[in-house]
Amino acid sequence: MNEILRKQFLRHVAQTSPAPQLIEVARAEGVFFYTPEGKPYYDLVSGVSVNNVGHGNPAVVEAVQRQAADYMHIMVYGEMVERPQVEFARRLAKALPEPLDTVYFLNSGAEAVEGALKLAKRYTGRTEMISMRRAYHGSTHGAMSMMGAPEGEEWKNAFRPLLPDTKAIRFNCEEDLMQITPRTACVLCEPVQGEAGVIPPKEGFLQALRKRCTEVGALLIFDEIQMGMGRSGEMFAMQKYGVTPDIVCLAKALGGGMPLGAFVASQEIMSTLTHNPVLGHITTFGGHPVCCAAGLAAMRFLQENRVVEDVERKGVMFEQALTDHPQVQAIRRSGLLLAVELGSSDKLYRLMDIFIEEGILSDWFLYCDTAFRISPPLVITDDEIRDCVELIRKCLDRL
Ligand code: PLP
Repeated sequence: MNEILRKQFLRHVAQTSPAPQLIEVARAEGVFFYTPEGKPYYDLVSGVSVNNVGHGNPAVVEAVQRQAADYMHIMVYGEMVERPQVEFARRLAKALPEPLDTVYFLNSGAEAVEGALKLAKRYTGRTEMISMRRAYHGSTHGAMSMMGAPEGEEWKNAFRPLLPDTKAIRFNCEEDLMQITPRTACVLCEPVQGEAGVIPPKEGFLQALRKRCTEVGALLIFDEIQMGMGRSGEMFAMQKYGVTPDIVCLAKALGGGMPLGAFVASQEIMSTLTHNPVLGHITTFGGHPVCCAAGLAAMRFLQENRVVEDVERKGVMFEQALTDHPQVQAIRRSGLLLAVELGSSDKLYRLMDIFIEEGILSDWFLYCDTAFRISPPLVITDDEIRDCVELIRKCLDRL
């Protein structure tokens, strides 16, 4: 670690917590990143479910280099015909179920959520917006307003007033669906809750949610920012559960490692953003050609190499290899996103230090600090899984 760089980081780069991890990164490849001294770390976070196609993926690097040389930013979003943007939108539309065929590109997950909420209000002419308890949708004012109570209250209270006319119902609770009424503009829901500590939907819940939204004319918005682009074992988690929302939010892995977000709806719904008022939702950098080129290359890589088809099997490999360790109380999983439950935050914090010593980067979850995250690049090989699991077990033995 370069001491001067470390000091300058602490002095000049804005901090988000009193205890940053402070590992200096020199380069990254596949499922590893390396310090300047050459120490490798298994990346079990993937920049929080971003690097699905692996670090330094040659197809993505080549696409970025080519596009950067051709042209970068030209004009605000939605005015010029830029090939990487058009081709990526078309590929996404083809992969998503009908009628989700019109893509609004932005820069991040929170921005995708903001756009989707505005679209739902504008389309329905209603104001009430419902989210799920223990949901995380981003850190901007609108997205934070949809942070699910009660766990989100600590964050929300520090920044009130937030958006009015919002409320949170219980995920996986069909009884609460009656709180969705003809006043409701939209319901925002992660098909698999990520930061709650990986909570998959109970059988029938998403179907019942879809039915209730349709009955009362509320738009259903899925936040697939963490699960989309293959993490769940399908390209989109909605396909796993056979439920199509009216709007879907994407980000994280969407840009293949570059910053990119999007919300996708039918052309009929999306077109309401073009009038009354015109320019009702605009962005300078959204859909940046280099980010779209990277995202397009990443999605093509996933599809051409049938990466997603192998995700469930790899997830099972991790689960089966860890489930019998005496420190492991439970494992919750969707595809290659696992929450390994230790039942104690003290143990978890100790384990994080041991992981760092042994060359593993993991993390806990925003609303669950008793479980650690396994969210590797989806391209992790079977040999790497076996080796990584052995290392994890060695760390767990030290607890
Ligand atoms: N939605 C979900 C489900 C997320 O996990 C996240 C980030 O962790 C976001 C939204 C926010 O995305 P971003 O950090 O790009 O704004």
